[in-house]
Amino acid sequence: VATVDRSVKRLRLILGDQLHADSPQLAGFDPAGDLLVMIEAPGEATAVWSHKARIALFLAAMRHYAAGWRERGLPLVYLELDDPAYADCPALADRLERLIDTHRPAELVVIEPGEWRLAQALRALAARRGLRLTELPDSHFLCSRADFAAWAGRKNSLRMEFFYRWMRQRHKTLLERDGTPAGGQWNFDADNRRPYPRQGPGLIPPPARFEPDETTRAVLALVQRHFGDHPGRLEHFGWPVTRAQALHALQVFIDERLPQFGPYQDAMWTDTPWGWHALLSASLNLKLLDPREVIAAAESAWRAGRAPLASVEGFVRQILGWREFIRGVYWHFMPQLRQANFYNHQRSLPRWYWTAETKMACMRACIGQTLDYGFAHHIQRLMVTGQFALLAQIEPQQVADWYLAVYVDAVEWVELPNVAGMALFADGGRFTSKPYIASGKYIERQSNYCRHCEYRPEQKSGAAACPVTVLYWAFLDRHHEALARNPRTRLMAASVARLDAEQRQALRSTAARMLDNLDAL
Ligand SMILES: Cc1cc2nc3c(=O)[nH]c(=O)nc-3n(C[C@H](O)[C@H](O)[C@H](O)COP(=O)(O)OP(=O)(O)OC[C@H]3O[C@@H](n4cnc5c(N)ncnc54)[C@H](O)[C@@H]3O)c2cc1C
Ligand code: SF4
Repeated sequence: VATVDRSVKRLRLILGDQLHADSPQLAGFDPAGDLLVMIEAPGEATAVWSHKARIALFLAAMRHYAAGWRERGLPLVYLELDDPAYADCPALADRLERLIDTHRPAELVVIEPGEWRLAQALRALAARRGLRLTELPDSHFLCSRADFAAWAGRKNSLRMEFFYRWMRQRHKTLLERDGTPAGGQWNFDADNRRPYPRQGPGLIPPPARFEPDETTRAVLALVQRHFGDHPGRLEHFGWPVTRAQALHALQVFIDERLPQFGPYQDAMWTDTPWGWHALLSASLNLKLLDPREVIAAAESAWRAGRAPLASVEGFVRQILGWREFIRGVYWHFMPQLRQANFYNHQRSLPRWYWTAETKMACMRACIGQTLDYGFAHHIQRLMVTGQFALLAQIEPQQVADWYLAVYVDAVEWVELPNVAGMALFADGGRFTSKPYIASGKYIERQSNYCRHCEYRPEQKSGAAACPVTVLYWAFLDRHHEALARNPRTRLMAASVARLDAEQRQALRSTAARMLDNLDAL
């Protein structure tokens, strides 16, 4: 631990997800009066019951990043997780306060935190200690919080598709010379969303994975020692922990996987945790990668004829569209988003969300790979674990805590809107047009999970009734009137209206039995 015990003018804090190559903290840095601070805090690993790989990724990336700054000779205090002098002080803000005692700065400079809770804690600390607090804008994002607020203006509902088109024009991305969208369309979804062929996905080039070096191995041992009872496994840890590794992972994706990314974005298959996905979310969220370079690499691959437009557009939409939109939405709707519970759901998360020990093959596969790697792709998160939590009436805050805990890319600004807004419709549709729900037949179409399941996706009653299907129909039954009013769900609502009284009764009693025994499914 490089502790510099002296008074300084400014403490400049770098949080674990602020590992920018070109840190905003360096603009105006004064080596004579400024001190950089990085803090490993056990409280950040236990605020939710974090997956071991998630904790390890943050710590390993932070340590490698700090090593780079030391090599550059910049003054840095780095507090390690198990620093004995801080053993009584697990919370990040408390550790920082102790450093303030030691270094007596007049000013605390932070890059705007990605989490509302932490932003509040830092503001409260600065106010309590009479420190000037400077919050630097996070240059990583393509749409600043102020720009998003201006775009959102007084709109009643915020829609990603319009935001995305606006961003494409603003950032001159995938445009023809005359400013129209490349290929004459903004959106190539119709060409994407295919399932894998019936016999399976075939050979998919693997993503780049990285053998842990000495620093990372020390972190893995540390995490096992301190958080051995936390969910998840460390044996498969291979995530990029440095910018050089993240750049390599990006290159491998662009060269080998991007061309097929589009068509199979929504496909799922057992023992195929990665599919054709990019696996770049964690590197982006830690800021090891800049979204501009990721988007530019994808666009160049298309312009050079190395990847089809439908795949490239689908990928760019995720980053320039969804990712920036979700961040804007988070700051727009916090702190209310954290409490949102539109349907007033109050049930507890089934225990098997933490163990994967369930008879439902779809949940077993998606949760199983989550525990193995800290990763599941978008459709697994949205249409398997997410929609089940909605249909099973789980309290949104418990669901949000689970998602924040188990994914290596989980940081609240991106996790919470995806959970509360996209998966659970807990905000009542402030930025989505409908609840994302489907019966087990959708899962059967998009995957091979149902082939390995003791439930049958087409059955709504009886011993083999599929819980996804039963609870989907029960949801339609329960919310029939509201769904019938929404043009995007009117057809779904009409289908439940066709059930006769006896079918409806059977459905309701099967659903009630399942809801009362979620742990046993
Ligand atoms: C319920 C739920 C929870 C989620 N929680 C997180 C989370 O904690 N952290 C996180 O980074 N993503 C989250 N996502 C979004 C998305 O599932 C992941 O970004 C994606 O699966 C990461 O894998 P990938 O890098 O292979 O992405 P790809 O599918 O290859 O997409 C490329 C990139 O686009 C971005 N992206 C794609 N979809 C979204 C989205 N909906 N919101 C924001 N960015 C997106 C990611 O940065 C991703 O790396 C969540 C989605 C859902 C439905
Ligand atoms: S039958 Fe139902 S529970 Fe089983 S895998 Fe298919 S959708 Fe999931």
